[in-house]
Amino acid sequence: MDVLRSRREVRAALAGAARPIGLVPTMGALHEGHRSLITRARSECPTTVVWIFVNPRQFRAADLATYPRDEAADLVMCRAEAVDVVFAPPVDEVYPAGFDTSVRVGSLADRLEGAARPGHLEGVTTVVATLFGVVGPDRAYFGEKDAQQVRVVRRMIADLAMPIEIVACPTVREPDGLACSSRNGLLTADQRAAATVLYRALVAGRDAWRDGERSADALRSAVRAALAAEPLADVDYVSCADDETLVELTTIEGPALLSLAVRLGTVRLIDSLTLA
Ligand code: AMP
Repeated sequence: MDVLRSRREVRAALAGAARPIGLVPTMGALHEGHRSLITRARSECPTTVVWIFVNPRQFRAADLATYPRDEAADLVMCRAEAVDVVFAPPVDEVYPAGFDTSVRVGSLADRLEGAARPGHLEGVTTVVATLFGVVGPDRAYFGEKDAQQVRVVRRMIADLAMPIEIVACPTVREPDGLACSSRNGLLTADQRAAATVLYRALVAGRDAWRDGERSADALRSAVRAALAAEPLADVDYVSCADDETLVELTTIEGPALLSLAVRLGTVRLIDSLTLA
């Protein structure tokens, strides 16, 4: 496995590589959710590339400073999964002096995470577009865990006619339902126990939908009621939106995305379920 640090090395290593090239973009601190993306890429692509980069453009400074990093453990996982190339560049290799381009998707990126974390999704699309330019993948693997992110990246690919297939992979959860996340390790024991409320609340909403409830407000209320039972959970938003456009719904008539963002102390977690 090659561990590469520069754009030039990656281009050289991938020139003539067997195609399709599958790319898994990550911010490291790899867990079972990341592993599922890597395994899927490995099973579908003769060349698998994992990108590990904590992108400063998608964080506020305080969040960036505390974001978990463990490159040694990440490389162990990548080797175990028979990854061909790990691209783990320093910041100035991704954003060299003079870098002056931003990629911003429109209204799809203004909702939910875009509204709650201004600039976040623009940071994501800018770095992903840059990465796609360096690696030239045929397929890129993203998690449904970041449901809006995968939809926004798909929009960018379509609009900019990038010849890349986006593969969305299901959310991997801990046995108690909490979605695997690099941020889970930042939770105290009490917060970790409380964090199970995210999935429970989404399931409460989905259960109401399965019982025939089609009012989006009623579903949001069901989710909020479940969250209210956990005093450590500070709700950022609860959304019931069209699965494709992410526009908030009044009545559910087609596929919908039930999603939420919750703070436990300083740690902000997101999760979602598709109703379809
Ligand atoms: P991150 O390192 O958090 O930026 O995540 C890198 C990729 O892994 C993104 O496409 C995420 O959506 C995906 N991912 C993160 N957590 C999970 C999970 N629990 N299940 C599946 N995919 C995930």
